[in-house]
Amino acid sequence: MSQMEMKKLKRVDFIFSKDFNVSEVLFGTFKKTRDEILQGIINSDLKGRGGAGFPTGLKWKAAKEEKNGGKYIICNADEGEPGTFKDRAILEEAAQKVFGGMALCAKVIGARKGWIYLRGEYKFLVPHLRKELAIFHEMLHNDLGFEFTIDIFTGSGAYVCGEETALLQSMEGKRGEPRNKPPYPTSIGLYDKPTVINNVETLALTMMVAKIGAEEFKKLGIQDARGGKLFSVSGDTPKGGIYELEFGMLLSDFVEEFGDGDTKAVQVGGASGFCVPRKKFDSTTIGYKGKLTGTSLPTGGSMMLFNSSRSMYNVLHNYLEFFAEESCGQCTPCRVGTQQLLKGIEAIKRGEKSHEYLEVLLSLSETMKLTSKCGLGQSVANSFSSIVENFREEMIY
Ligand code: SF4
Repeated sequence: MSQMEMKKLKRVDFIFSKDFNVSEVLFGTFKKTRDEILQGIINSDLKGRGGAGFPTGLKWKAAKEEKNGGKYIICNADEGEPGTFKDRAILEEAAQKVFGGMALCAKVIGARKGWIYLRGEYKFLVPHLRKELAIFHEMLHNDLGFEFTIDIFTGSGAYVCGEETALLQSMEGKRGEPRNKPPYPTSIGLYDKPTVINNVETLALTMMVAKIGAEEFKKLGIQDARGGKLFSVSGDTPKGGIYELEFGMLLSDFVEEFGDGDTKAVQVGGASGFCVPRKKFDSTTIGYKGKLTGTSLPTGGSMMLFNSSRSMYNVLHNYLEFFAEESCGQCTPCRVGTQQLLKGIEAIKRGEKSHEYLEVLLSLSETMKLTSKCGLGQSVANSFSSIVENFREEMIY
């Protein structure tokens, strides 16, 4: 078995660092060719910080290569994953870096218009963002001579609109339901134009790559998960809040730092992520490998800690209620599956179904993973199977 790559828990300071001049970085970077800027992002191995971990440089490259004009860049600020609150803080405290990342992308792909898709619950940020945008536009248009404009679109509160094609539907005034893929937004996106959609944190990090270079950026983190990451820490912790940490830390180190001494489980990646029990803290790192294999777990940044006073049945019940409520209902596996999983664990708890029915529900969740149309239905099995398999007795008694 190959050696697990890991890093000591280490704080990094980029996103909220005041030692950063956005206009200086843009002035320096815009002296390069579009291909050189793009190659820097590709070489950095920066992956999307919304949770899915798609390579940012490849997304930009795909949109750049499209011949169709009128391209768009959208900052996905529809931060709806339970337990995640770091994008709000970035927009409050470091919006200029996000705008800078959007301008970099616009330069590379040839866009003239950008949008911030802001979560409906974050409408209170609009006046602040408009003020910051006025400062940014003045610098970009008057000092840099680059014609690129950013506007704000506020969502209406649906979790599924964080999915990029549902987000596009919502912006076009249609029901917020995911589209079939392919085609991907980089070829047919907003109003059928090539569109890059990047998370808030991802865009801010492209400015870090532009400032320090791909090689320096790659010194942080582990293979497949380079750089630092913002984590929203919540639950049973005396240190709830937002922390920027290097990728690749062991979960046991994280729990030692943030736990209350009695942590029995950590939900990594919010309701759509994985639940890791205490016995696996020592064999789990935080990265992007993507499966609960005792190795590297992906996360958009939500880290919820639970101590022994918590019922994992209640935690799972809460997540399933959330998914059943937020399912857009477009495809049967998710629309019906979320309801059946919820009713199923309730029936077992009441003693109306035997504990063997858990196997049927686990199989249903796997079917949902394989057959649901978008990430919402596909990811229900992550928390369902990891909670049921590790806390089976709590589902029954
Ligand atoms: S998986 Fe769920 S949220 Fe996604 S399209 Fe199907 S019903 Fe809608």
